[in-house]
Amino acid sequence: MSRPVQARRLEGVDKNIWVEFVKLAATYSTVNLGQGFPDFPPPDFLKEAFTRALSGEKHMLHQYTRAFGHPPLVKILAQLFGKLLGRELDPMTNVMVTVGAYQALFCCFQAFVDEGDEVIIIEPFFDCYEPMVKMAGGTPVFIPLRPQSVEAANADWQLDPAELASKFSERTKAIVLNSPNNPLGKVFSREELELIADLCVKHDALCISDEVYEWLVYDGKEHVRIASLRGMWDRTVSIGSAGKTFSVTGWKVGWTVGPNRLLQHLRTMHQNSVYHCATAAQEVVAQGFQREFERYGKPDSYFVQLPKEMQQKRDQLVQSLVAVGMKPIIPEGTYFLVADISEFKSDVPDVPNSDEPYDSRFAKWMVKNKGLAAIPLSAFYCGPHKNNYNSFIRFCFAKEEATLKAADDILQKWKLEKTTP
Ligand code: PMP
Repeated sequence: MSRPVQARRLEGVDKNIWVEFVKLAATYSTVNLGQGFPDFPPPDFLKEAFTRALSGEKHMLHQYTRAFGHPPLVKILAQLFGKLLGRELDPMTNVMVTVGAYQALFCCFQAFVDEGDEVIIIEPFFDCYEPMVKMAGGTPVFIPLRPQSVEAANADWQLDPAELASKFSERTKAIVLNSPNNPLGKVFSREELELIADLCVKHDALCISDEVYEWLVYDGKEHVRIASLRGMWDRTVSIGSAGKTFSVTGWKVGWTVGPNRLLQHLRTMHQNSVYHCATAAQEVVAQGFQREFERYGKPDSYFVQLPKEMQQKRDQLVQSLVAVGMKPIIPEGTYFLVADISEFKSDVPDVPNSDEPYDSRFAKWMVKNKGLAAIPLSAFYCGPHKNNYNSFIRFCFAKEEATLKAADDILQKWKLEKTTP
């Protein structure tokens, strides 16, 4: 019985932070601002469309549809992204529907990365990028975003251009870009994207552009699509998620948009793995996009209303956190907020000989002692870098008024405890 049962590609990728923190939140939290999902309902137009899809005349919605995307959905995605990218898109070859953005990412790494290829990942990063690159046989190469001021009060963490250039070589197959960025809430500027684009072109590297928070951008900031920059369409796969777009993370509908030279390989991956995504969910997402296409930029568009509401929630949580002495980094996008907890060093008992990052110990202490769940920022760094930025925790503010109020109650009580000797 000495033969290992698991394939070599699983070595070193078996640990997952979410399993531990989701369990901790379920056991101890009164208020869970940890995992990223809205606890408010999706828009009525979408719920009504789902009810109609399930109980209406179109009984074929309960059956298989086209493997690479339900025709009405790829059609409207091609129309919308064609408009946004300023080019004509073919729904059949330039768009593919996936099981959430997660499967889109998985298809990209499996389809493009070979043994020995390097993939550049910008830290902090959505945690699945690293194991997905490794499972494809690739080597992740990390580069950190660095805070521009000691106070780090805004999401202006930047790449060092020389350091970024030094990460590219003939082994570089791709770079993963995530703007707006989870967890920081940073929205990359056009200049920053041009820097990345120029290096991709120079080194003939691909760009896997995770844009799942594309509609969640605040304070008038602009979301720039890297695929729209010079020389980038041919080498970029843009990834989106209905989960984030319409506040329906459980539906797991995502998509990829890109040139056929890249998408043909994603189709090969998709047809040899999941083959197909749930038809009814795709139909409803198509209807949602149809509605949004007609209202694009208008006040009654969900893409206009959602970020407005979310910005208020962001500001509310910022106030609550400041009250207790945390220093939030104001996010420019996403529904996440990272707060500096270095003032709390004395609250959390030291664990001798532990290499567990402080933020991780803090997040565990906070959920157990205060009932408030958040995620340590170190979870978004590779193993050797986990202690580089270990005094921040991430909160999700896509929450109902009542949830944010309950969080505020906890933080106000905590503040009183801190100020009352
Ligand atoms: N990318 C990022 C940056 C994310 O935050 C998430 C979800 N948290 C995903 C991809 C996965 O999206 P989906 O739920 O559509 O699979």
